[in-house]
Amino acid sequence: MGREIDFAAERGRMVDRLVRGGYIHNPRVREAFLAVPRESFLVPEERAEAYRDTPLSIGHNQTISAPSMIAIMLEEALLQRGERILEIGTGSGYHAALLSSLVGPRNVISIERVEALAERARSNLASVGFGEVTVVVGDGSLGYPDRAPYDCIMATAGAPQIPDPWAAQLSSRGRILAPIGPRHGQVLVIATKRADGGLDAREGTPCAFVPLVGSQAWPD
Ligand code: SAH
Repeated sequence: MGREIDFAAERGRMVDRLVRGGYIHNPRVREAFLAVPRESFLVPEERAEAYRDTPLSIGHNQTISAPSMIAIMLEEALLQRGERILEIGTGSGYHAALLSSLVGPRNVISIERVEALAERARSNLASVGFGEVTVVVGDGSLGYPDRAPYDCIMATAGAPQIPDPWAAQLSSRGRILAPIGPRHGQVLVIATKRADGGLDAREGTPCAFVPLVGSQAWPD
């Protein structure tokens, strides 16, 4: 019999490393990482690795991002409780759970193109108390107009440029965080909506996300 892993202790140590490494500054982001068990969002073969700071396979050729990368995005997004978020690329549901801890579970919509992943994400989320997050199946390169406007649209898959429909679905204080650039290796772009409806964009950290596949992004 293998030794049982003390996931809660490992989670605490990972969060300490993210703080010491300068990835987490905001106490609310720290609390969110402590509140969400990453192991519950992994396939069984990957569970022992839950608190390594690395992307891990979730099947269907997709990966859950490294915690430090998610921390960078959550810090940049400056999310307030009650803000409405659209996440593009649900994957395992882990990032959606973190968003839910920050803004409240009814305020998170996450869209996933692979139906089997969306189903698993729903069950992962429900199993650890985040069942109120809304997971929909569809092409997130078109955003999700049914629940717009959003205060933040956060993409966890990389696109060649910011898809036009996203800006149209932002609220007046809205911002977009998305990996933008070539298919393999992007830069995190942070864009905020101006009063005239246009976007002011700046470039953050280099990153490497799986491609956003859709009618306003990469072909299949
Ligand atoms: N945020 C996820 C990891 C995302 S991996 C997590 O926490 O686990 C990127 C995901 O984006 C993959 O699941 C992939 O299927 C999905 N994806 C790619 N193109 C998409 C699109 N056009 N619309 C919605 N989801 C998409």
